[in-house]
Amino acid sequence: MGDPRRYVVIGGGLAGLASAVWLAEAGKQVTLLERRGRLGGRAHAMRAEAVDDTPDNGQHVIASGYDHLFRYLTSVGTREYVAFPHGGTLRWPDGRSVTMRTKGIAAWRTLSGAHPDANPLERVRAALATLRLGWQCLHQPADLADLTTEQWFDRAGMPAKAREALWDWLALGIAAEPVQRESAKVFADVLATGIRLGLRHRRAVDIGYPTTDLDTLYVTGALRVFDKHGVRVRHRAVARRIHIADGRVTGVALADGTIVPADAVVCAVPNSSIGGLLDELPEHAEIYAAADKLGYTPIVSTNLYLDRPLGTTAEFEALIGGTGVIDEVFDRQRMTGRSTAKAWLYCLTTSGAYEQIHKSSDEIVAEQMALLRRYYPAARAANVVQAQVVRMPKATFSQVVGTHALRPAQRTSVPTLVLAGDWTATDWSATMESAVQSAARAVDLLLELPSMA
Ligand SMILES: Cc1cc2nc3c(=O)[nH]c(=O)nc-3n(C[C@H](O)[C@H](O)[C@H](O)COP(=O)(O)OP(=O)(O)OC[C@H]3O[C@@H](n4cnc5c(N)ncnc54)[C@H](O)[C@@H]3O)c2cc1C
Repeated sequence: MGDPRRYVVIGGGLAGLASAVWLAEAGKQVTLLERRGRLGGRAHAMRAEAVDDTPDNGQHVIASGYDHLFRYLTSVGTREYVAFPHGGTLRWPDGRSVTMRTKGIAAWRTLSGAHPDANPLERVRAALATLRLGWQCLHQPADLADLTTEQWFDRAGMPAKAREALWDWLALGIAAEPVQRESAKVFADVLATGIRLGLRHRRAVDIGYPTTDLDTLYVTGALRVFDKHGVRVRHRAVARRIHIADGRVTGVALADGTIVPADAVVCAVPNSSIGGLLDELPEHAEIYAAADKLGYTPIVSTNLYLDRPLGTTAEFEALIGGTGVIDEVFDRQRMTGRSTAKAWLYCLTTSGAYEQIHKSSDEIVAEQMALLRRYYPAARAANVVQAQVVRMPKATFSQVVGTHALRPAQRTSVPTLVLAGDWTATDWSATMESAVQSAARAVDLLLELPSMA
């Protein structure tokens, strides 16, 4: 006889989608509750009518070590939409550039001193510091959790030019916080995961990207799976409280006053939305306090449509020294093969955008164009056809010093209630892989439940 349990997933972001897909594949009865009118959460496509295009809410890149994300893409049939280029570009304001490599001896050269002005001594010092960092990722000093990434770099003797050319940018990309605030422990843990995966799979960790919009990548295929397995999706269903009686989940109360009956729940909302939902869980105060302390970091993304090409040489380019205005420029023509009949699209990202988040869209675009003109001669004559500025004040939870041990496990004291979401405890920082890995763990816990009495 089939499992009579009613499984309810709260939240239709990647963690919730993956949970619902995998529970459905396991033959369970699933209802997915999403408070918005669309699925995808923080990774979604948007329309830009004026230029008849469908960009994303912010460029999302995918590391080759995102094993759980690839498992999800295989489940929903969209694995083919992720590409790995041969390396991005590091670009300086005077137009000089260096190609970042991730394989073989060229990768070592990138890691240990990619700066074009670095002298041989600085390169040797950078190589030694890189070895020291790698060793300390796997054999972590006891005080790492008390250090910022900058303090850790200083202690390892990483030269300023190597930091400028690569390491500060890499750290910002991994934890979306500037090195002066970021927890060295968070950065080291992610590097350690990368090193272990690299050793296990015997391949370098590459940075890839979707060749299509995020809805096509994550949502369309999930809807096909839901259709096939009879998963019920309820949009604009705002969960308020998970009811628990006698140590078991009994239902989910919605904001409209109705109750969705449930025998098992995956609560896959971000830390910013957890308040109230777990009030009936004995350890709720501890989880709420952690959610609060994890806080948020802002990201500003701009989909910038120009009337001519910028003159990029790779799919993505890091603007060295531009941090605070633009970290990366993504060339969507190269990435997706989009038509340039109406305009050229460049996706610009600023992580840890504590200043920018408060500026108007016009100010942000003016500032970004001024910066692009310093890096790309072609930008000097370029006109903006259309610009979409996406401000995300709560883009991810914050990974500053003192936060690494706060993330709650997927397992709770109530076996039929599990947590998921990028902010729960995983091997990764606030990433799509963290969201999907948390879903894999949450679903495994539910699939281990004894059959219903
Ligand atoms: C601009 C930007 C760029 C990024 N770049 C990258 C990148 O390059 N690489 C990478 O790996 N990651 C990146 N990330 C991070 C990544 O997008 C997130 O880590 C991931 O999407 C989080 O998924 P999630 O399911 O945990 O949470 P969410 O996507 O936030 O999903 C949670 C869902 O729950 C719903 N919800 C909340 N409360 C309720 C409620 N009470 N009832 C019902 N539904 C509710 C929400 O509406 C939402 O749909 C980026 C994020 C942003 C914002």
